[in-house]
Amino acid sequence: MTELSRLLATIDADEVAELTRALIRIPSVHRPGDPEGNEARVAAFVEAWLRREGFAVEVQLAAPGRPNVVGWIGEKAPGRRSLLLEGHTDVVTEGDAADWTWPPFAADLVDGRIYGRGAADMKSGLAAAMIAAAAFVRAGVEPRGKLVVGALVDEEGGMIGVRHLVGTAIGRELDAAIICEPEENEICLEQRGVVWARFRARGKMAHGAMPEAGVNPIACLGAILRQAPALERRLRRLCERSRYLRPPTVTPTIIQGPPPGIGVPQSNVIPAVAEMTFDVRLTPGIDSDGLRAELEAVSRNAEQAHPGAKVEWEPVNAFRLATRVDRSEPLVQAMIRGVREGAGRAPNYGGVPGSTDGTILRMELGIPIVTCGPGNRLIPHQVDEYVEVDEIVESAKIYIASALNYLEV
Ligand SMILES: [Zn+2]
Repeated sequence: MTELSRLLATIDADEVAELTRALIRIPSVHRPGDPEGNEARVAAFVEAWLRREGFAVEVQLAAPGRPNVVGWIGEKAPGRRSLLLEGHTDVVTEGDAADWTWPPFAADLVDGRIYGRGAADMKSGLAAAMIAAAAFVRAGVEPRGKLVVGALVDEEGGMIGVRHLVGTAIGRELDAAIICEPEENEICLEQRGVVWARFRARGKMAHGAMPEAGVNPIACLGAILRQAPALERRLRRLCERSRYLRPPTVTPTIIQGPPPGIGVPQSNVIPAVAEMTFDVRLTPGIDSDGLRAELEAVSRNAEQAHPGAKVEWEPVNAFRLATRVDRSEPLVQAMIRGVREGAGRAPNYGGVPGSTDGTILRMELGIPIVTCGPGNRLIPHQVDEYVEVDEIVESAKIYIASALNYLEV
C-alpha cells in the first residue's frame, strides 16, 4: 500500500460526521460581556482531541477567554516546509432559534446532511482538517515537514486570532496555508478584499429652526453618499477583472448623526458630528495607498461641497485587501494533484466572495494561501445552515493528499 492509500484508508465517514456534530453542539457565538459567549469551550474540546491523537499543542490566548489552539505533527527541519490547515472556532449568531427547522446547536443528521450554526462555516472544515492531520499519526506516516492544525478565534469579528498567530514563532515559520472555509471544495486562488471606511463629518451645532447659524454635518454626509456610485466605478477601473470574483462594490451601511457617545439625537438640533460607513469590497489590483487616495478624495470633495464642514475618514479595521495566489505556487500544484488523488476527480476553481483569516496570513506573512473546504458557499450565516457529510469526507481526503504532496519536497 502506498503512503497515500494508507492515509486515506483511515478516513471514516461516521467519525467525520460525529466530530463535526460534536463541534457544532458546543455553541461558540462571541457575545461580548457574556463569560460563556466565546470560543473557550470548543477550543478546550479541540485541544483535548489533538492531544489524545498525539499532536504537540500550543494554546495561545488571543484575548481573555479566547484561545487559539495550534496543534502539529512533524518538524520544520532545514529544507522542510510548514503547512497550516486553518479553521476558526467562532460562529455567527443563530438569530431567532424559532426560525430554524432544526435547532441551531443540536447538529441533527438528516439524509446525509448535518444541520446547525457553524455546520458549513466552519466546524465541518475544522473537523476535516483535524481528521486529515490525525491520519498521518494513525497511519504511521511521518510528515516530511510540519503539518499544523490551527483552530483560531474571532474570524467573524476583528480576526484577532489570526492576527495573534502571525506574531508567534509557529505563525512566522509557516510556508503556506489551506483555509478550510466552505467553498464547495473548489480551489480558490482569489479572495475579495474588504475595507470598512468610516467618514466623520464635523460641522457646527445649531437650532433646527435656524440652520444658517450652524454647519450641518448630515448634509455633508449626503455629499459623501452621492459619491458612492462614482467611487465604485473608479474602483472597478483600478482593480482587475476576475473570473471568480464579483467586481468591486461600495455599499453605504451605517449612517449616524450624532454618533453614539457624542450627544443625543434630537429632532430640533443640528448635531456637531455625523458619521457614515462604506463597506468597500475589492478585487486584486489596488494597494493600500491607492485606496487611501480614493477615500481621501471623497472626503475633500465633500468638504468643498459644504464650506465649513471638516471630513476625516478612518478604516474601522485594518485594511483587508483582495488576495490572489499564482497557479504555479507549489501549494497550488500540490492541491491540484491533491484533488485528483484525494477526491478522484478533476479540480474545480472558484473565488471567495469575502475575506478570511487567509487574508491576514497573505498580507502579514506573504505566504501563499488556498481556500478550499466543505459546504455551499451561500449557506453560511443563514438559518438551517447545513453541510453534506460526503463533502466533509472529500475535504479530509483532499487535505491529506495535498499535505502529503506539499510537504514532500
Ligand atoms: Zn468562516
